[in-house]
Amino acid sequence: MTDSDFSKGTTRLIHHPYQPPAGFEAPQPGVFKASTVYFPTVADMRQREWKDKSAYTYGLHGTPTTYTLEERLCTLEGGTQCVLVPSGLAALATVALALLKSGDELLLPDNAYGPNKALAEGELRHFGIAHQVYDPMDPADLARKISPRTRLVWLEAPGSVSMEFPDLAELVRVCQAQGVCSALDNTWGAGLAFKPFDLLGDAVHLGEQGSLAVDISAHALTKYPSGGGDVLMGSIITRDTALHMKIKLCHMRLGLGVAANDAESVLRSLPSISLRYQAHDQTARILAAWWQAQPQCAQLLHPAFEGAPGHAHWQAVCERKPGTGLAAGLFSVMIDARYTQAQVDAFCDHLKLFKIGYSWGGPVSLVVPYELGSMRQGWPAHLKHGTLVRFSTGLESAQDLMMDLNQAMQAHLPWA
Ligand SMILES: *Cc1c(COP(=O)(O)O)cnc(C)c1O
Repeated sequence: MTDSDFSKGTTRLIHHPYQPPAGFEAPQPGVFKASTVYFPTVADMRQREWKDKSAYTYGLHGTPTTYTLEERLCTLEGGTQCVLVPSGLAALATVALALLKSGDELLLPDNAYGPNKALAEGELRHFGIAHQVYDPMDPADLARKISPRTRLVWLEAPGSVSMEFPDLAELVRVCQAQGVCSALDNTWGAGLAFKPFDLLGDAVHLGEQGSLAVDISAHALTKYPSGGGDVLMGSIITRDTALHMKIKLCHMRLGLGVAANDAESVLRSLPSISLRYQAHDQTARILAAWWQAQPQCAQLLHPAFEGAPGHAHWQAVCERKPGTGLAAGLFSVMIDARYTQAQVDAFCDHLKLFKIGYSWGGPVSLVVPYELGSMRQGWPAHLKHGTLVRFSTGLESAQDLMMDLNQAMQAHLPWA
């Protein structure tokens, strides 16, 4: 074989004439991987539009795989436009970078996801963007802190780690009354416990969008949409084209995108999200009820439980009919102040089925003790003193998980 035969073979392999027949249909959509996307002519290349998802220009700007995932996530959360980013935190950061400029101010709830606060204290501050922290359980505090410089208010329901559920509807009304953009970190609700664009549940009467909606819903797809503990991804969902374009153009300029195989993993998990969410919820409530009966538990922090901080607010947006409300498989326990941090740490270490690790939403139950005092502006008035431990339930048997909690408690948190 001559050199030229050899390279002709290579050319034929690259420019192969075979086209598989169209019309392939199967449960999962195909995985399209690309940086380069072809144009038939230069004229076509110059004209082609990508911002409205009517065509393809470059892998970073979208493929059939990412467009499909975006549309399904819009359906999940009740939005109309979606931008995908490489992590939940990237979703929070992209919203901030798209909407804020030097001289602006941003407001965060005191119980915000920790790294969102760190972003405000780090890069945003360096860019000349100020921030204030408001009391999520006091809408009047939010109203007082909104100033003419305020351009963005973050909402979280419930708050990270301490799990208090705010009066979400009232917080959104405060933002709307003052004409400030409201962005919800909707990771906990996941589009299932409540609808971020239909907070009062009246969309059925009013058309697609309800009478009260957040402007932006950001979601760590890393959690329930992935469901495997193996993918990092985030989404930013809106219902306003102008707002979406602002975010999308910033997203493009920052060069953010997601890998096709990761998008495929989320597409594969999405059909079961509702079943999984309910299973995580059910197990969490069984374990939370068990904790509530233990004297070692000074306070149970699970918004679906009577007496937990913000329970009535959880009922207002998550429980349209009594007994039907959903909650994520996530709760915290304030361990009685008689135990030292070292004892609580030893209890966590002694758990066998619960693994020690961040994140949640996968098949494996997880536990993390938190030093809440260092995470809040002051010790919140609605929280008892003690050591906080957060549990996220996986898909194991509730009975097995309860036995695991019990054996570690016997070993390291003796009551008598
Ligand atoms: C996990 C999480 C995030 C960040 O998601 P990553 O994909 O881990 O970056 C943001 N907000 C909340 C509430 C989360 O639980």
